[in-house]
Amino acid sequence: MAKTFECARALILEKISVLPTESVSLLDVVGRVLAEEIRAPWDLPRWDNSAMDGFAVRAEDCGPMKPLLIDGYIPAGGTADGIFVSPGRAVRIMTGAPTPPGCDTIIPVEETEETDDRVLINGRVRVGAHIRVRGEDVQKDEVVIVAGSVLRPAEINMLASFGFKTVAVFRRPKVAILSTGDELVEPGEPIGPGQIVNSNAYSLAAAVREVGGEPVLLGIARDNRQSLTEKMNAGLQADVMITTAGVSMGDRDLVCEVLQEVGVERLFWKVDIKPGRPTAFGLKHGKPVFSLPGNPVSSMVTFEEFVRPALLKMMGHRRHIKPFVKACLQETISKKSGRTQFLRVRVVDNGERLIASSSGDQNTGILRTMLRANGIAVLPADREKIEAGEEVDIHMIAAVADFDVSI
Ligand code: AMP
Ligand code: MG
Repeated sequence: MAKTFECARALILEKISVLPTESVSLLDVVGRVLAEEIRAPWDLPRWDNSAMDGFAVRAEDCGPMKPLLIDGYIPAGGTADGIFVSPGRAVRIMTGAPTPPGCDTIIPVEETEETDDRVLINGRVRVGAHIRVRGEDVQKDEVVIVAGSVLRPAEINMLASFGFKTVAVFRRPKVAILSTGDELVEPGEPIGPGQIVNSNAYSLAAAVREVGGEPVLLGIARDNRQSLTEKMNAGLQADVMITTAGVSMGDRDLVCEVLQEVGVERLFWKVDIKPGRPTAFGLKHGKPVFSLPGNPVSSMVTFEEFVRPALLKMMGHRRHIKPFVKACLQETISKKSGRTQFLRVRVVDNGERLIASSSGDQNTGILRTMLRANGIAVLPADREKIEAGEEVDIHMIAAVADFDVSI
């Protein structure tokens, strides 16, 4: 019996485990998921320091008629050793330099006038101004980044600020991609009658890379046991295998049979969805194997809805399923009851709300409609018709479009 969309996806996520961790250089961790908790090894900033280029002073000494004697200089990278702000004196200081003892305020250079060895402070002085206090950002031993965080430039700056050169992150899955079919040729090869180009491998590789995995192209298996067995055994060396085509009911659709022969335990075959009904999922020693349909649109949509969440879980992400965006349907859509329908839509922001309209011909064979789409509306299985104006749930696959831009 075919599984419902929700059951199939839940079963996949239940069976997927998080990959082991590895230590990776800060230069290569953007987008990766942190596998350890980071505590501050020291206060940040490490000492009280100046937030401006200017003068370190005692606020009480400053006044319009009271020039201060300039006595000392602390550049960035310098120390305040042996320097002290005595009454009636000012120490020249650069941004980031440690504030010398005795001072309670920094006066920015823009608010001063210098003559010879003296400086006159114009304007009002606020005690404590422009001093960055030790530990005001982060205190020693505080948790600054929790395990499971996605590393963005901001997290990477924090890690580098604390002197980390490498951090523990979850491994990226190697994802073997196997195209199947006697009719397939690779891009660039001569194409004969009845042949089509193996385009799925390229869009799936791109999708794997976009999520953060490492695609491994296995090439094309022909529709016979020997070829499929050989390629599948190679693919099972990776962390995940994706096959496309050969999962329908045709007499050359051998993918499911051969997967079982090479030891993949089938967890489901056929899901009540459109497109993508023949999708299958299995495991070999815990390694996930996704068998996606051959139609380019079906393979992309089933990747998005089943494989993507699985890869995110393997990489340690805490959120696996994209949150839905709600948009108003522009036109009434009739659908088959009993199947969740993935409608390719174009979502635009009209300034008041998000509006979703079909991106064109929804036939599985129509690839163009996928190019125009920036979202996949997930229409519930139990509905036969969604009326214009109703709100629908959308998985965005690109940014919301501006109202006046159309392609
Ligand atoms: P099948 O499930 O094997 O009957 O394939 C369904 C449809 O998808 C057929 O029209 C195939 O030619 C097409 N197809 C299969 N594999 C690929 C591929 N790798 N790239 C593009 N189209 C494919
Ligand atoms: Mg085929």
